[in-house]
Amino acid sequence: MFRVTREIEFCYGHRLLNYNGKCRHLHGHNGRAVITLEGRELDSAGMLIDFSEMKRRIQGWIDENLDHNLLLCRDDPILETLRKHGERVYVMDANPTAENIARLIYEQTRDAGMPVVEVVLWETEHCHAAYSHRPLAASRE
Ligand SMILES: [Zn+2]
Repeated sequence: MFRVTREIEFCYGHRLLNYNGKCRHLHGHNGRAVITLEGRELDSAGMLIDFSEMKRRIQGWIDENLDHNLLLCRDDPILETLRKHGERVYVMDANPTAENIARLIYEQTRDAGMPVVEVVLWETEHCHAAYSHRPLAASRE
């Protein structure tokens, strides 16, 4: 089994609903997504996937949608005000926690046709959350 990992840095703002810590107020993070793909077969060049292809397909989406953007839950009442003032936002179905941002990037990577097995989202230098979906059969190997 082969694994390849690419790290993508991006800046984002957010705030969390139903939460009493510091992240309940609007603020930003310098985030880092660590995206891991896995597969058995290599292509004719001996690669699972070209790192530059990974960059093009995933970093492009992150740059366009998440980087220097405000990630907010669709239930956040501040959305209406921000939209009224022409602010750019990325609306998530769930609270924009590190866990849910990791899942969002995982789903985008999967939907872009890449064999993703895990996304780790570093929210700060010391804290990260991961989302992975590993079939039980694969974990026995
Ligand atoms: Zn935060």
